[in-house]
Amino acid sequence: MLTVTDLDLFYGDAQALDGVSLTVRAGTTTAIVGANGAGKTSLIRTIAGILRPSGGSIRLGEREIAGLPSHTVCNLGIGQVAEGRQIFPSLSVRENLEMGAVIPRARADAARTYDRVLALFPRLEERLGQAAGTLSGGEQQMLAIGRCLMGKPDLIMFDEPSLGLAPALVQELFRTVRTLAAEGMTIILVEQNVAASLKLASHAYVLENGRIVLSGSGAALLDDPAVKQAYLGL
Ligand code: ATP
Repeated sequence: MLTVTDLDLFYGDAQALDGVSLTVRAGTTTAIVGANGAGKTSLIRTIAGILRPSGGSIRLGEREIAGLPSHTVCNLGIGQVAEGRQIFPSLSVRENLEMGAVIPRARADAARTYDRVLALFPRLEERLGQAAGTLSGGEQQMLAIGRCLMGKPDLIMFDEPSLGLAPALVQELFRTVRTLAAEGMTIILVEQNVAASLKLASHAYVLENGRIVLSGSGAALLDDPAVKQAYLGL
């Protein structure tokens, strides 16, 4: 579904992505693992069209999308739940969800998608009129996911979705990701919670200093001595 080949990204003179290649098959969950500063967020933001790569290719199916603006990428079916959630705090929960459906691909089905999102997150339904900034951290994360789903993505990229959440909410978040995966959603998951994300993922990549240094099935990487030592503290 998504094929990234030899992707390079620079911030000024500093190279953040160096020849990154990866493949995401439709209907699978792919984990991207790496230390702080490895380039995970840069990779997600480049695929999303927020950052412009200096080289390489990003193909969605047969279509080259590298360098397209983010609203176009979004409208082609790539949604993103950004690190730090980025909801609109002064808008209500309902308004935040509605904002997710403004892209053309989502408009016609918005009412049906809205019902589906509220069925997935009943807690949001109880708070539809409430300003989003007054939600708890876990509820804000649900809202960020719900808003992304309102755009009817075929592929969702999660950037550190469990960051700052209490352990019980982290479990709930992983349940949500599993539910979406079971429904056939294609998922890219960047997570500090490496063990949990590798368990979920059919395929995983390890990013170090802007390069992919290891890849394999989630199970194989969970068992890999270098991964165990560097990321699982074993
Ligand atoms: P983290 O888990 O800490 O968010 P990450 O793996 O997502 O890390 P990135 O945020 O993609 O890593 O950062 C990759 C590299 O690019 C780092 O060296 C970082 O300092 C640098 N970088 C990120 N954003 C910028 C920016 N706007 N300007 C300059 N350098 C940046």
